[in-house]
Amino acid sequence: MVKFQCSIAINLVLLQCLLALVASQSFDFFYFVQQWPGSYCDTAQSCCYPTTGKPAADFGIHGLWPNYNDGSYPSNCDPNSPFNPSEISDLESSMQKNWPTLACPSGDGQTFWSHEWEKHGTCSESVLDEHAYFETALGLKQKANLLQALKSAGITPGGSYSLKSIKDAIMEAAGYTPWIECNKDSSGNYQLYQIYLCVDTSASKLIECPVFPKGACSSEIEFPSF
Ligand code: 5GP
Ligand code: 5GP
Repeated sequence: MVKFQCSIAINLVLLQCLLALVASQSFDFFYFVQQWPGSYCDTAQSCCYPTTGKPAADFGIHGLWPNYNDGSYPSNCDPNSPFNPSEISDLESSMQKNWPTLACPSGDGQTFWSHEWEKHGTCSESVLDEHAYFETALGLKQKANLLQALKSAGITPGGSYSLKSIKDAIMEAAGYTPWIECNKDSSGNYQLYQIYLCVDTSASKLIECPVFPKGACSSEIEFPSF
């Protein structure tokens, strides 16, 4: 009898360990975040074009970020899984085109991609390994063609538009409500900086966002040219 109780106790401890392990790797959804290069560059801080040349006038990927439903998020989950450029060498030209770095000093993107993998990607490793993480983000960008969505609604770079018209245009094309993040241009006016869409934990489909980030925009915002 004592032996039986003891084995139940051991099993419970093992179960708790297993649950803790699963819980530590889990997250509730992803934010898929794209940045408008014109707005990254048109700030007091300015920007630097990548060593591979000026990117196209298109949204670029910022990241695919695991998040919790309460708005918090895990980060830097696995120090034992550093970014390995050789794992994504087949994606490099697509990465340069679709995930360009604009930070100074100029770089070829490896530093940006490494940061995104290590801070965010390692928190969804149970679902996507490094290659799958980047390949999935590239695929999502094709699926949610933001520039085309805006263009179809007559919203093009070099103008000023209502925040609502921008949200409606993306909702119309992507089928889900986006979150718009603004930054301020060099004279302090709000402009369209980043667009967030939410993705399910398997990273296979867009979903309605369980929670939106915080931040301010004005009702009318700039969409600067690039
Ligand atoms: P910022 O302070 O510019 O909003 O965010 C700085 C960085 O924090 C972002 O680039 C991103 O790496 C991380 N971050 C900010 N907000 C969120 C969020 O809601 N979810 C996740 N996963 N990361 C975030
Ligand atoms: P996050 O904001 O995702 O935590 O961090 C972004 C980091 O990547 C910052 O250290 C930033 O300097 C660097 N970075 C490099 N290129 C870019 C870029 O094009 N856009 C943004 N937002 N960050 C970049």
